[in-house]
Amino acid sequence: MNRVYNFSAGPSMLPESVLKRAADEMLCYGDTGMSVMEMSHRSKPYQAIIDEAEALLRELMNIPENYKVLFLQGGASSQFAMVPLNLFGFGAKADFVNTGAWAKKAAKEASRYGVANIVASSEDKTYSYIPELDSSKFDPEASYFHITANNTIYGTRFTELPKVGNVPLVADMSSNILSQVYDVNEFGIIYAGAQKNMGPAGVTLVIIREDLIGKALDICPTMFDYKTHSDNGSMFNTPPTYSIYICKMVYEWIKELGGVEAMEKINIEKANILYNFLDESNMFKGTVEVKDRSLMNVPFVTGNEELDAKFIQEASAKGFVSLKGHRSVGGMRASIYNAMPTEGVKALVDFMKDFEAHN
Ligand SMILES: *Cc1c(COP(=O)(O)O)cnc(C)c1O
Repeated sequence: MNRVYNFSAGPSMLPESVLKRAADEMLCYGDTGMSVMEMSHRSKPYQAIIDEAEALLRELMNIPENYKVLFLQGGASSQFAMVPLNLFGFGAKADFVNTGAWAKKAAKEASRYGVANIVASSEDKTYSYIPELDSSKFDPEASYFHITANNTIYGTRFTELPKVGNVPLVADMSSNILSQVYDVNEFGIIYAGAQKNMGPAGVTLVIIREDLIGKALDICPTMFDYKTHSDNGSMFNTPPTYSIYICKMVYEWIKELGGVEAMEKINIEKANILYNFLDESNMFKGTVEVKDRSLMNVPFVTGNEELDAKFIQEASAKGFVSLKGHRSVGGMRASIYNAMPTEGVKALVDFMKDFEAHN
């Protein structure tokens, strides 16, 4: 069977060249005589893999020396707890912008250990926009300020970062890490589950400024303390070895394309193909405010549930799969992460035009 165009929100498409190389190396990695999956995480060849992964990521994101890079388990959802368990040692309160289900979960988890203050919300309109921020509502004493940089479910993103002064900005970048250029210096912590835009499920990336490490609450479990992992080079216990190996190859793939800047250019071009069509279509409509549109997740509807269902079914039969929208938004959602080729988006738009002409 041919490979399909997979628009899944996550786990999602990976670059074909990475999958092919993983297949080639499946039984025998280099001259080790074994699969990376079978390798001791304490072995020399594996140490070389994780070191190379970190070095490539540092290069791609231009990560400054005073930031640690951690490869952890537990998903972005564990970070909802890990961030407050570590940063509430600096004062048990934090500010949150409620831009969707993930942001809300991050705030709810933080509220188990301290005060989670919601400074703005777009819940009133199914999170179809990024709310205006009034910095007079920010707490200058907060131990951190949390945003979901890209809202996977609703298809919005922060195009501008909040002005948080000296409060560490913490960003959940699970669905847009490495999709656009960011200045890491603007953040205290960046975290991202790998399975949307970076690799397979199982590894969660944390980029953390060094001065934020070492003040965890007494109740913080050893495994949830950033210090545990930063003191041990992400090797306190067994890291998600195979997932990190795939991430390393994804980083190499981005580097070969010209780095994050080149990736961002491609992503803008790709997203515009779809948004331009949505703007001119008489049948399909985008669901979010134009200024807040995500480059990665594009929700759209026809306004007629039966027609939506028909579209999803016919698209799937043509090899455009996982287009069903999240249950809270309905309709469709095309996730067009880094690994989705421009031809995939063009082919989808051609199919949508055809569907519109016949219905
Ligand atoms: C998917 C997602 C999560 C949850 O990630 P897990 O790795 O499944 O815990 C959190 N935040 C955002 C923005 C996501 O897209």
